[in-house]
Amino acid sequence: MRFVPDHDLHIHTLLSPCSRDPRQTPEAILAYGITAGMKLLNLADHCWPYTQDKVLPKPEFIPQGKHCFLLHGAEIDMDMNDNLSASISDIEALDFAVIALNHLHLKNYCVPKDFPEDAETHKKRFQERIHTLLSIDLPFHKTGIAHFSDGLLCSADHIRCLNLFTDAELIDIFTKIRDRGMGVELNLVPSHFKGSDLDSVLRPFYIAKRLGCKFYMGGDAHHPDSFADILSKKMNPLIDLLELDESDKLPFIPETIARLESAK
Ligand SMILES: [Zn+2]
Ligand SMILES: [Zn+2]
Repeated sequence: MRFVPDHDLHIHTLLSPCSRDPRQTPEAILAYGITAGMKLLNLADHCWPYTQDKVLPKPEFIPQGKHCFLLHGAEIDMDMNDNLSASISDIEALDFAVIALNHLHLKNYCVPKDFPEDAETHKKRFQERIHTLLSIDLPFHKTGIAHFSDGLLCSADHIRCLNLFTDAELIDIFTKIRDRGMGVELNLVPSHFKGSDLDSVLRPFYIAKRLGCKFYMGGDAHHPDSFADILSKKMNPLIDLLELDESDKLPFIPETIARLESAK
């Protein structure tokens, strides 16, 4: 059975500094999920030390649909000294944590101010950060690695940066991700890439799939205007290109939906 796009576990609200859109409320996000036929959504605001000391506390009230549930999560970062932007206990308290290790455009935070621009240095740093993360004792079953192939990885040459990973290095990474039970986020627009560039951004995901990693969708919306394209431009093309089926889905998703349905 084809992978059902029944969730979006990476959505920003107006509280994220890169959103600050008064229309991007939990109510608007829930309406998007219901319209798109989704059952599980996750609020994943950035957790950056210069905007807040720790993850946003769970609001007293989170709107819920009849069959569409809204979780309280965060997008966790890692600083230049390999410290996560939230404590392990804060991460444990979240419903689901999206962990982004390739925000290497954030100078003075994820990398030093004078970090070299070249692809080799960025690839090496990203690789080190992934292995560091995977050595931490986290509740990996309710976490996911955000936008692995994202352009934020290297502003100089993001495609070359990805191409510098050997298959063996990606196998090493995704074997660990699979063994920890961490999800792999589907979050890119395939039509933005042509020819061999598309192969470059998809290669990590093909390897992850072959190894038996489990996937979840992350639309990464910051504004309501982007809701309309998430299924048509990101999720459905990715599901088709990677030929994902329900067995490739992160177990957290059906388990959480079943738990919330039975708790009603
Ligand atoms: Zn991100
Ligand atoms: Zn994000």
